[in-house]
Amino acid sequence: RADMAMYRAKEQGRNNFQFYTAELQQQASKSIELENRLRHALQRKEFFLHYQPQVDTNSGQIIGLEALLRWQPDGQALISPEEFIPVAEEAGLIVPIGEWVLREACSQLHRWHRSGLLSPTVKMAVNLSVRQLEHTSLLSTLTQILQETGLKPSQLELEITETAVMKDPDLVVNILHSIHAMGIQLSLDDFGTGYSSLRYLKLLPLHVLKIDRSFINDIGGKQRDQAILESIIYLSRNLDLTVVAEGVETQEQLDFLSRFNCHSIQGYYISKPKSAANIEKLLHKNKDGNLLPMKTSVIPD
Ligand code: C2E
Ligand code: MG
Ligand code: MG
Ligand code: MG
Repeated sequence: RADMAMYRAKEQGRNNFQFYTAELQQQASKSIELENRLRHALQRKEFFLHYQPQVDTNSGQIIGLEALLRWQPDGQALISPEEFIPVAEEAGLIVPIGEWVLREACSQLHRWHRSGLLSPTVKMAVNLSVRQLEHTSLLSTLTQILQETGLKPSQLELEITETAVMKDPDLVVNILHSIHAMGIQLSLDDFGTGYSSLRYLKLLPLHVLKIDRSFINDIGGKQRDQAILESIIYLSRNLDLTVVAEGVETQEQLDFLSRFNCHSIQGYYISKPKSAANIEKLLHKNKDGNLLPMKTSVIPD
């Protein structure tokens, strides 16, 4: 019987192993397939951008927009950036794709500034991956794109994550200081989800700190979660950083964040990421420039 049990365990182990490798193989071939399709996506013009407003918590005025990459392969459904960006990073394709994002986002904002739809103080935030930061031509690419599109360095904000910094701290900290010296603003994205958040607050030349959505989700829950959030806002303000809360979905969350003096918010409660045309509609609809949903009914004049 002992022999039998041993035999069973071995069989099972082997089966598990086979199952495991099959799944890994499936995953690997899926990302190879994605990679092959990504290689032609730029040329085939399958990418476009959505923009999500960032608004001042008190006035509801738009202070910036975050550019978010979208990919729709010919005749197929949208593929989430959570799925294709890691593949593009792994394959090094994020460098040319990211350059396209920068150029597209900068020229769009410049058009909005020129047409008077947005005030010149409104910035464009663009996500940058560590592969782009490591690339030797980043600074010259940035200079060239600003020149081409006419955007001022101070109107561009680059979002980086702690995880990206951690991958190559010495190099990344250096390059971020050069970007800062150009007058471009830097934003720390997904704050609180990395390993040594406080250390990076000390080391990096930051303008903006974006509190990760998971902290905002917890509002209305435990006292401890709220205390942490309150302290992050307080700390950022003391460090002269602009605080953006990500993923605000409810009035309750907005109320909490205004009560604790969080400068600005971004999230579905204000607007989902939208195409350029739909951003224009949103701005035209709110002529007074206040993008906060109405709490009380408006008295007609
Ligand atoms: P992220 O930079 O942290 O962007 C915020 C994400 O949260 C976006 O997801 C946005 O649609 C989503 N979001 C905003 N408000 C809410 C909300 O109220 N509720 C919920 N549930 N979600 C909200 P998205 O567009 O799918 O992008 C995911 C991630 O992909 C981004 O996270 C960023 O890390 C990456 N990404 C997107 N575009 C680019 C790009 O051009 N370059 C690079 N390197 N990464 C990008
Ligand atoms: Mg971001
Ligand atoms: Mg984020
Ligand atoms: Mg993220």
